[in-house]
Amino acid sequence: MCRFPVRLPRRLLSIATLSSRARLLLACPVCGHVYEYGISNFEQVRFRTSDPFLNHRAVLYSVNFSCGTSACGKQAEIMAVGAEDISIAFLLNVWSHWTLHVGCRGGHQLKCPAVVYWEISRVSPRAHLPA
Ligand SMILES: [Zn+2]
Ligand SMILES: [Zn+2]
Repeated sequence: MCRFPVRLPRRLLSIATLSSRARLLLACPVCGHVYEYGISNFEQVRFRTSDPFLNHRAVLYSVNFSCGTSACGKQAEIMAVGAEDISIAFLLNVWSHWTLHVGCRGGHQLKCPAVVYWEISRVSPRAHLPA
């Protein structure tokens, strides 16, 4: 797994530490590899700067698409961070080169469909991590 430390909204992590089954598919903003992160990968860090997600400087995006295996139909959700002043069009250009090391909930190896099939939303910095 890529070792780059990705900063996530503080609230999301404090929820995560309460649930040992929390997992999240997260795209590394540096190398573009997507791995599943579990509870043991999360770490609470006391930063000197305030939460950039609450300051509207960073955005956590949720990218949804369905598993490419026919008749599976399960939705996959990949989290990705971006700076507030970077456009979605630019991010899509970067994200379309993701390397996926994750499966859908049905156990199939996930592949990214063409970006026109992606559904992208912004995750509130106060959101809960999906268990
Ligand atoms: Zn990385
Ligand atoms: Zn599947």
